[in-house]
This record gives sequence, structure tokens and C-alpha cells, in this order.
Amino acid sequence: MINVYDVIIVGGGAAGMTAGIYTGRKNLKTLIISMDVGGQTSIPSNIENYPGFDGINGYEMMMKFQAQAMKWGAEMITGKVKKIDKKKDRTFKVGVTSGETYDARAIILAFGKTPLSLGIPGEEKFMGKGVSTCVTCDAPLYRDKTVAVVGGGNSALGGTWELSSLAKKIYLIHRRDEFRGDEVEVERVKKQDNIDIVLSHIPIEVKGDQFVEGLVVEDVNTKKQKTLEVDGVFVEIGFKVDSEFVGHLVKRNEQKEIITNLNCETSQPGIFACGDVSDVIFKQTVISAGEGAKAALQCYHYLSGAKGKVSIDWDH
Ligand SMILES: Cc1cc2nc3c(=O)[nH]c(=O)nc-3n(C[C@H](O)[C@H](O)[C@H](O)COP(=O)(O)OP(=O)(O)OC[C@H]3O[C@@H](n4cnc5c(N)ncnc54)[C@H](O)[C@@H]3O)c2cc1C
Repeated sequence: MINVYDVIIVGGGAAGMTAGIYTGRKNLKTLIISMDVGGQTSIPSNIENYPGFDGINGYEMMMKFQAQAMKWGAEMITGKVKKIDKKKDRTFKVGVTSGETYDARAIILAFGKTPLSLGIPGEEKFMGKGVSTCVTCDAPLYRDKTVAVVGGGNSALGGTWELSSLAKKIYLIHRRDEFRGDEVEVERVKKQDNIDIVLSHIPIEVKGDQFVEGLVVEDVNTKKQKTLEVDGVFVEIGFKVDSEFVGHLVKRNEQKEIITNLNCETSQPGIFACGDVSDVIFKQTVISAGEGAKAALQCYHYLSGAKGKVSIDWDH
């Protein structure tokens, strides 16, 4: 017998778990399929900008999200979704890498994105202990400290600018002899006294004991190496969105993010997207959670066929 869910949510981070809470509360038969519990929010040891929690361990917070989704009836399995197909009856078949398939009347895509890493010694070891991929999240931890930002695009330039009002000194390290980012961003950074621009250098190793203490960089021309004494290293070299498996179903932008409207609808009726995987500009836990709620409510509208009818969460 085929087990048909009302909705399958792909991804168990802040967006997916919140969507699960809302679809559960709408009595929709919900399955969350995710490679892990909590997504990227589980990585930081201290989240300081989620309303209601004035500092909480990311993993601990995501356990609360999961417990709340389960409490409202969402089921969850661990797995990687590799295929989604639309059937003739306009429902969907979802295939996971282990070979199982699951059917659903609607899909919520909440599978996030992955920050690109440098792949150098020490980077993984010190992730969350001085190495970060998110200036917006971690900049306040480096007040009056010395940090390095690695990257040459707008996110590295913008991140460096953001840090310059907090940190004592920032080394901006880029492998080329000029930046890829917008001229305005470049000029702004060049004018700032506490930013030391280190062009034509690549990071070689993150050094430290318990926390980051230095970054070894190498001149791409002379191959000469030096160690910069820093308390933190921000890796701002972009993100990867693994959305190929839905490319035949939904429209995506150049970054392979899924294009959504204000209500988290995609170009495919019955498929919704939310959080980091969508083309929403700001990538933060609170935003993913809000987007997850929107996607779930819009999905409920779609499934109930109540187009235009206003239905709010507590209106059971
Ligand atoms: C080091 C670091 C620190 C951060 N600090 C903060 C902070 O302090 N405050 C803040 O607001 N934000 C912070 N962020 C950003 C925040 O973590 C993200 O914006 C947020 O996690 C996005 O949530 P999401 O649910 O959209 O995606 P994600 O958290 O990326 O979750 C996606 C989920 O989908 C799963 N998945 C992916 N592909 C598949 C697939 N094919 N099949 C099944 N499952 C799949 C993943 O395993 C994951 O569980 C930080 C990020 C990092 C990396």
C-alpha cells in the first residue's frame, strides 16, 4: 500500500522544522526527510540573535525545534532526497538515496545551502572556535580583536566593512590582485584605516591551540609564507546550493537558489520553498523560521483549495 503524505518537507533545519510545526498544527500528514537534524544552525555554539533566546547553543535550539515539530505530529526520517517527480495526478514521488520512495500531495523545499570551505589544515578543527562562515552571525564576538576575512567578492567586502566598526584590525585576504566585488564596496574598504588589504595571497593553514591564534598565508607569486596573528578567520568565499535534483521542476536563479514569490510559492504549483535554499536575500535562522511558517501556511491554502480565504494559525 502506498503511504501518501499531505506534505513532504525536504530538510530539517530551521526552515523545515518550522514548516513541520505549522503543517502539523494544520493536521496535515507531514513527513520531514533530512540528512541531519538542525542544519547549519546546529553548528554555532552560541546564537545571540534569535528573539526569545538571549544566547543559546545552536544544537540545543534545533533540538527544541524538532521536538516541537514531532509534538504536532510531523514524522521524520534521516535520508538524502535525490529525486522528486511530478505524477500524472499532480501529486509527487520523492526518492531518497537508500532507494525508498514516498508520495505526497505537496512539497516544501527547505534544504538550505552549504558555505564553501577553503579545505586547508585547521579550518575544520577550529570551525566555531575562531573560524566562521558568517560575519553577520559572529562579528560581535570579535570586538577589539584582530581577524582575517578571506574572499574577494561582495560578501567578503561587505563582511569586512561590517567588522571594521567592531574589530581592532582586519586583514582582507584575496588570491587575485584585484577584487571581484562592486567598486563601491571596494572603495569603502580601501578608505578604512583598520583594514589591511593583502592581495595575491592564499590561506595555507589555520593555527592555534584551543582557539584560532594565526593564519598562515602564501604569496601566489613569490611563494613566500607569513603568519598573521589573528583571533578569528572569516571564510567568505561563497555558497553552494545543491538543487540539481529539482531543476526540472522549479525555476532557479544563477546561484541555483529556488525562485519564490512573497508567499514562498515556486514556479511549480504544489511545491514551496523557504529559508536559505530560496532566493530570499538574507540568510539567518530567524528568517528561515519565518519563511518556513509562510511556506507551510501557503501549502495549507493550496491543499485545502481555499484560495483567497484568510486562515490564520490559531484559527482551528
Ligand atoms: C557557522 C555558522 C554560524 C551561524 N550563526 C548564525 C547565527 O548566530 N544566527 C543566525 O541567525 N544565523 C546563523 N547562521 C546562519 C543560519 O545557520 C542559516 O541561515 C540557517 O541554518 C538556515 O536554515 P535553513 O533551514 O534554511 O537551512 P539549513 O540550516 O542549511 O538546513 C538545511 C537542511 O536540509 C538538509 N538537506 C540538504 N540537502 C538535502 C537533501 N538533498 N535531502 C535531505 N535533506 C537535505 C540538511 O542536512 C539540513 O538539515 C550561521 C551559519 C553558520 C554556517
